Amino acid sequence: MAKIYKMSPHLADLIAAGEVVERPASVVKELVENSIDAGAQSVTVEIRRGGMSFIRVTDDGCGMSPEDAELAFLRHASSKLTDERGLEAIRTLGFRGEALAAIASVSNVTLVTRERGAESGVAVVLEGGEPHPAEPVGCSEGTVITVQDLFFNTPARLKFMKKDSSEGAAVTAAVVKAALSHPEVSVRYIKDDKEELHTPGDGVVSSAIYSIFGAQFFKSLLPAECEGEGVSVTGFVSAPAAAKGNRSSQYFFVNGRCIKSQMLTTAVEQAFKSSLFTGRFPACFIYIILKPSDVDVNVHPAKTEIKFLSESQVFSAVKNAAAAALAAEGMGSAELTSESTLKAAPKSDFWKTQDAETFRKASAPPPPRMRVREDATPYNAAPAPKPREPAPAPVYEEPRPSLFPEEKKVPEREAPAPQAPKIEEKPAAPADYKIIGEAFGCYIICQKGDELVFIDKHAAHERMLFDALRARESSVMPQTLLEPPAVELGAQDTALLLEHLPELAASGVEVEDFGGGALIVRTLPSGVAAGEVEAFLGELAEAIRQGRKPGSLGAADEVLATVACKAAIKAGKPSDPRELVPVAKAVMSGEVRYCPHGRPVSVVLPKSRLDKGIKRT
Ligand code: ADP
Ligand code: MG
Repeated sequence: MAKIYKMSPHLADLIAAGEVVERPASVVKELVENSIDAGAQSVTVEIRRGGMSFIRVTDDGCGMSPEDAELAFLRHASSKLTDERGLEAIRTLGFRGEALAAIASVSNVTLVTRERGAESGVAVVLEGGEPHPAEPVGCSEGTVITVQDLFFNTPARLKFMKKDSSEGAAVTAAVVKAALSHPEVSVRYIKDDKEELHTPGDGVVSSAIYSIFGAQFFKSLLPAECEGEGVSVTGFVSAPAAAKGNRSSQYFFVNGRCIKSQMLTTAVEQAFKSSLFTGRFPACFIYIILKPSDVDVNVHPAKTEIKFLSESQVFSAVKNAAAAALAAEGMGSAELTSESTLKAAPKSDFWKTQDAETFRKASAPPPPRMRVREDATPYNAAPAPKPREPAPAPVYEEPRPSLFPEEKKVPEREAPAPQAPKIEEKPAAPADYKIIGEAFGCYIICQKGDELVFIDKHAAHERMLFDALRARESSVMPQTLLEPPAVELGAQDTALLLEHLPELAASGVEVEDFGGGALIVRTLPSGVAAGEVEAFLGELAEAIRQGRKPGSLGAADEVLATVACKAAIKAGKPSDPRELVPVAKAVMSGEVRYCPHGRPVSVVLPKSRLDKGIKRT
């Protein structure tokens, strides 16, 4: 064993930076959270080159004194926690005192800040964490932090960075989460000199959702509410018809913090259980308010995962809120959890305008054993706008550019009728098997020698199409759309698809950037109906994501597999017997044995098994 040395603070910072500062999006998240903690009413985020070369966050918060401006970059320097009692009931987004130190250690940072009421401000410049002497400057009240050349001194980390467009998309996602977490703060986001997002900051959740995602999406939302002992749930779930091809539109907020939670995802999806097909996921914006001491936010360095003191209470409240939303629309099974303490909240006073200060007071630790009261919820009062009706008018005298502007909607008109892929009807060559029929609308039954073979018609056909696409002898004819629709997919999925245009084109999908997180769709493979375009593109983005994981087929093949799956004969209803002939042939000849993902497409039942079962022998 080598001798033990105590690490230099700089090395310790670099290591800590690995946990807190993973990519530009994490820098933006930390800086925006600091601005919100500082009581800002408006925060502007600017990035260039996906945030790799330039990030600037400007706020009108409380600012820092010259002394604090220098202290802020020391490790474990925080104004938010002074003793361990505070750790039990954290009210601020930050508290670990390591973000600024970590960010500064892996970039070049400039801080310009002026405390409220101070005569002038101060500028601090740090290079790779090394501070230059602070200098007085004239500036407005508040704080501007500029982060340049991220990871310039950590080449190992730099290598892990994705393309600028992917990093940029992750930043966008971080800004969207921050803006949704704090609708009382007006968040403006400028990416490569273009304004991508600007929330009104009026404290109304629905205003924030509307301004970020646009009217079309907003209209598909149902208000979801439930109030229980010590827990209050408000927010929205999407109507089942507007479900998505992946989970990227599921947002959960606990006491103003956007978090990931498998438990909460399950709660919402259980409520949708009977209303959605497999592979479709509800969108949701679920705001949970708990006593700060009922959650532990200190279980993850970036604080994106938390622990609930009472998981089952929170689970039931969220599930009930979602189920009640569906029930109110006459959808879903609406089997509410029968816990007596829970009730779907009355359509009351949840959505009031609130300023930042009131919000912060509201999320202060309530007195012991207190029920979460209406006035303790962050965005309470004005009646919940009913999303199916026109969006709340007063906020949008002049509609702001949104990531998903409504004008870019998919036309209602039917796209050219998607045709079922043609399977040629060649008479089967003298075969050594015969097709007995089809069972359950799913399995082709063939008899060959002493065996029955059950063929999954969808999986087998999917494989045939996949192979044909791969060999560029496409039997999935692309349909050219006469009026190419623009589809709002969201910044992340859009960026991902734009990065993979050649792979998409190989599958008969031609799209173009329309700006603002939307795509123009020029051609689509057959089998995709007009109403499915958005979901289909979402599935392609998901396929690409899958394709990047080890053990997958790779992005190009995952896209082909998705297209093949769409175009293949569907299981669940009986097919024209003539359609099944070539599929049976491909399998019985041994040409097709596994689906694109490696699952077998057939099982064999030997006659001897039947005989044995019937005790014939
Ligand atoms: P933490 O947020 O966990 O306290 P940080 O390293 O993120 O730790 O920030 C250190 C300290 O710097 C904060 O506690 C706060 O006092 C100060 N600070 C950081 N950003 C701002 C800002 N935008 N406005 C005012 N003060 C800030
Ligand atoms: Mg912080």
